[in-house]
Amino acid sequence: MEFDKARDSSNNIISFKYIKTSNNLDKLRKELKCPTKNCQARLSYVAARKPYLKTHNKSSHSSFCPYKKQGVKYRNKQRKKLLVSLNENSVYSRLDRYKNDFYPNLKAKTIKQKNNNKRKQKTKNSVQNAKLQGVASVNSKTSVTKNVISPRVSKKHLNEFLSTDKGKIFQLGAKLKKIIKYNNKKYIFKIEDPKNRCNGEILLKKRFFSRNVQGINLQLDFLMNYLKKNPNNNVNIAFYGTLLNFNSMQFEIFVDYGFKLYEMRKGRVIKNTLAEFYSLHFH
Ligand SMILES: [Zn+2]
Repeated sequence: MEFDKARDSSNNIISFKYIKTSNNLDKLRKELKCPTKNCQARLSYVAARKPYLKTHNKSSHSSFCPYKKQGVKYRNKQRKKLLVSLNENSVYSRLDRYKNDFYPNLKAKTIKQKNNNKRKQKTKNSVQNAKLQGVASVNSKTSVTKNVISPRVSKKHLNEFLSTDKGKIFQLGAKLKKIIKYNNKKYIFKIEDPKNRCNGEILLKKRFFSRNVQGINLQLDFLMNYLKKNPNNNVNIAFYGTLLNFNSMQFEIFVDYGFKLYEMRKGRVIKNTLAEFYSLHFH
C-alpha cells in the first residue's frame, strides 16, 4: 500500500509531493503518520529511485483505519481462504467460459468429448473433493468448509498485470507453447498471449500434485510430447493461477483441476480437462 499523503507531527495533512520536495525531509520523514485521523500507524518514506510512502514495518494501523485492511498479512490470509474454497466444479465451470476469449469469431458449437466413464469419474472426483476439503479445514482455521462460497477471481490478460498483483489469484487464458519437465513434481508451461505478444509461464509444483491423481504424470508427459510433435498446434489454456513473479510473469496452478485445454479441430472448439485431452489424443 502506497500513500499519497501523511500527517506530520502537528497532525497536519501533508501531500507526498510536499514531503518529497521538502528541504527538511530528513527530519520530516521520522515523524510521518497515517493520514487517517487518530490512527497510530507510522509511515516510512522509502527513498528509492521512485520514492514512495508505506506503512512502517514495525507499525500497524488502528482498528478503525481504512488502511488496516490493505496490509500484506490480510492479503495472504485472503488468498489462503480463496484457494480452499474453490472447488473443482466451480473452477471448471468458470474456465468453460473461455471459448469466446479464444475464438471470438466463432459460432460453431463446442463439443464435449464423450466419456464412457463419466459416472465413474464423477464419483471419483467427488471423493477427491471431499478429501481436499477435509485437508483444507485442517490447514486453515479461517475457512469454513461447510459454507463454501465461490469468490470472484479477477480475469486478466497477460499484459494487464501490475507488480502489486503478486501473490493474488487470477483466471487467464493464453496459448500453450511448450512444457518443460524438471521431475515428476515440477513442470513449467510456457505460455503466450498472441494478441499482445506477452510471454509468461505456469509453474506446477508439489501443491499441484497433492491429490495424487492417478496417471497425472503420464497425462502431463503426453501433453508435453504432443506440443513437441505438433509445433503448429493450437492448444490454448485457461487456468486459475497465483502470480508468483511479476518479472517473468510466472503463475502457479495450485491444484490439478486448475486448468482446461482448448483446441480447434475440424472447425469445432474442443475443451478438455487434462484427463480428457489424454484420452482424446492417445491412440
Ligand atoms: Zn492508519
